[in-house]
Amino acid sequence: MLQHAKSPLLFEIFYECQTTRARTGKITLIHHHVDTPVFMPVGTQGTLKGLLPQQLEQLNCQIILANTYHLGTRPGFNIMQKAGGLHKFMNWKRALLTDSGGFQMVSLLELAKITEDGVKFKSPYNDSDCMLTPEYSIQIQNTIGADIIMQLDDVVRTTLTGPRVEVAMNRTIRWLDRCLKAHQRSDEQSIFPIVQGGLDPKLRSECANQLTKREVNGYAVGGLSGGESKDEFWRMVYLTTSILPKNKPRYLMGVGFATDLVICSALGIDMFDCVFPTRTARFGCALIRTGQLNLKQVQYCKDMRPIDELCECSTCKTYTRAYLHHIVTVETVACHLLSIHNISFQMKLMKDIRQSIKEQRFPEFIQEYMLDLYPHKEYPQWIVNALEVVHIKLL
Ligand SMILES: [Zn+2]
Repeated sequence: MLQHAKSPLLFEIFYECQTTRARTGKITLIHHHVDTPVFMPVGTQGTLKGLLPQQLEQLNCQIILANTYHLGTRPGFNIMQKAGGLHKFMNWKRALLTDSGGFQMVSLLELAKITEDGVKFKSPYNDSDCMLTPEYSIQIQNTIGADIIMQLDDVVRTTLTGPRVEVAMNRTIRWLDRCLKAHQRSDEQSIFPIVQGGLDPKLRSECANQLTKREVNGYAVGGLSGGESKDEFWRMVYLTTSILPKNKPRYLMGVGFATDLVICSALGIDMFDCVFPTRTARFGCALIRTGQLNLKQVQYCKDMRPIDELCECSTCKTYTRAYLHHIVTVETVACHLLSIHNISFQMKLMKDIRQSIKEQRFPEFIQEYMLDLYPHKEYPQWIVNALEVVHIKLL
């Protein structure tokens, strides 16, 4: 464990890109340090599908995300308490981030109802009514013991417009204050507030401005990557990073496509999470610089190359595309091997981003990256627009 004078989170920026808003640095947490910008793999039910904690360490993961919804209901609050927190329960010694449980509840349970008190829902295991309040969410997250914990926010569909968006934004601020008040372990865990406000620039700005008046160690940007257009998406990210203070980490929730990681790093985001790399592995897809390989396709049945010749992961060092094609329907084994590759791909991409920021060649990195992806220079307009605001012209 690292020793701290006061704060459970220390953020140091080592290098700033001179062209874009990108920066690279280090977040020092109680359980581990985290190099930023960082991608955090998502572990559901306390384990990453198909991967063990030691393997995540070998892949150089410094922080992973755990879903409170699964841990709060199953294995359950009491077991978590008995185990002395999730770190011990899952034998993960590095940093952890938990969500509030709200998003999962609203998206998984059709019957979830939001009131000023909290999120009311029917238990998925029996017929009883349960209530996730801001206070209870923090109590669960205090018990789980993650280094970074999230406020409960009022989640609305990203594409929703109208007065409900403003209600949710204001309620999110009120719920933040309740979360901060309920927090029992502020010397070990940091609560991140969540900027909401849908796709309305005025509401987004107001929310971000309000949140910066609270004493917190970092901020999350929520309610994006939910079906809005890519142009709406990056504009909201750009607007939010214009308001949030520079000296605290900014976490963009639920974003993990490679292109989005590159662009949002340029817009000033430091942390990302997404289930995508492991989910797509379950469908037999391997991530590569130019997109994805669907190893179920018959064209790979005699392909004796690894997924990616330049990849250093154990899957690429050991197995051919032909072999992976052969076992891709034997779910657990193939899913495991592809997950290793896909997580490794995300880690390598973030490392390349950090390195290029450090060496003051992030703009060139982006230009080359996009040219690899679009060799005929048919760049999507949103990418051109998003990079233009941070002064990057594509080749
Ligand atoms: Zn690989």
